[in-house]
Amino acid sequence: MRKTKIVVTLGPATEAPQMIESLITKGVNVFRLNFSHGTHAIHEANIRNIRAASEKLGKEVAILQDISGPKVRIGKIKGALQLKKGDRLVLVKEKSGDTPNELDLSYPQIIDMVNIGDEIYFADGTIRSLVVDKEPDRLILRILVGGSLTSHKGVNFPHTKLMIPAITPKDEEDLRFGAGHDVDIVALSFVQTAEDIRMAKKILAEVQADPTIVAKIETGHAIENLDAILSESHAVMVARGDLGAEFGVTKVPRIQKHVLKRANEMNKPSITATQMLTSMKENPFPTRAEVSDIANAVYDGTDAVMLSDETAIGKYPLQAVEVLHDAIKDAEKEYPWYKEFKPLDKYDAVARAAVQLAEDLKKEALVAFTTSGYSVQVLSRYRPKENIYAVSHSLKTHRKLSLLWGVHPLFVMPPLNNPTKLLYAFVKKLLDEGRITLEKRYIVTMGDYTGKSGSNNLIRLLDKEGMESVLGYEF
Ligand code: PGA
Ligand code: MN
Repeated sequence: MRKTKIVVTLGPATEAPQMIESLITKGVNVFRLNFSHGTHAIHEANIRNIRAASEKLGKEVAILQDISGPKVRIGKIKGALQLKKGDRLVLVKEKSGDTPNELDLSYPQIIDMVNIGDEIYFADGTIRSLVVDKEPDRLILRILVGGSLTSHKGVNFPHTKLMIPAITPKDEEDLRFGAGHDVDIVALSFVQTAEDIRMAKKILAEVQADPTIVAKIETGHAIENLDAILSESHAVMVARGDLGAEFGVTKVPRIQKHVLKRANEMNKPSITATQMLTSMKENPFPTRAEVSDIANAVYDGTDAVMLSDETAIGKYPLQAVEVLHDAIKDAEKEYPWYKEFKPLDKYDAVARAAVQLAEDLKKEALVAFTTSGYSVQVLSRYRPKENIYAVSHSLKTHRKLSLLWGVHPLFVMPPLNNPTKLLYAFVKKLLDEGRITLEKRYIVTMGDYTGKSGSNNLIRLLDKEGMESVLGYEF
């Protein structure tokens, strides 16, 4: 079974129910809904269709809501502005008429936050400028790298701390919408500090929602505050599109390795995103470099890899998923299994011991019973060669597990006050459904009193003797 998970972005190319079913059949684990595009009506239909397809196929998938965040854009330009090296460009709070080379921003207050000597980039970092002067309500820029600039292109401020909250009024509305539709995972764009994550949590708590929160790392300040952001969030995304615009594309591989390493160390699941298979938007085959990039993300320790335009608007979405699946599978033939970490807490230590047992005793799989999902996540972080089967006590937890490396959400079972009783019910169910034989050899982790979050304190060997002994109880 493939260990590294696949996230795909839904869009006009893939929104048809039949297409969603095909994507699930091809092995998609998480569907991303990009709230920078589309209406709530479209997202609502997508959510409905994903849930229906998942149920029809009997395969669990998670829904990830990607919140647009405060992406800074320039205002309207008549036609295209041709900028050459050395040209002068002025950013203003408010445009006065149609002065060429004068642009406004979606967040005018940013003008006050920028200093002389800062650089400002436009259009995905392809056009670069330096702030040479600052006047009241305007910035004078000199173009360092020219290009053709059109309306509403993105702007990056690699040297400036932008004092704008990561959650805009639109984001807040979107968060409430997502909570109302039971999305499993929420990704926050342009996070700069841990406070941004706390703000999202507060809004979500108000509507009793508890999704997995993914911090998208895509600004210089997010890199500076990486550890604090990781501590506050549940998971992380290496958002290579905006990272490339902010730092320059040649720095992205090193940043990717750094973020993934810290995420692994701090036990935060990770997604590597953007331009994984860009050429497949137009072609049915990838380039060597793209496939190599996928393999390297796997070796860098990512939990999941993500497709964006390839599946949202590309011509070959299903082929792209096939290529992603095959490239991951092949990369995983040579994987650095059984990673070493110092356990972060007692549940993590139990998990490490369970993984060690699975390796030593050559077991076929690890099984974890989980309430919050944490006891499964701590198994996954050690990157065991064995599959990890998860049995959750709630559907919400169950769906979230789709993102985790190496984890196969099996089914939801109600908690029981006695762990042996639960194991009995589990083995009986698998035997009755013909899904295992007594010859299987599993390592199980569970809690003394199941159904209580963080009660994981038992390891059991579920081999032939173990299963017979469990089945010998009369419940
Ligand atoms: P986006 O985020 O696709 O929402 O911009 C990912 C990235 O920047 O790489
Ligand atoms: Mn981005």
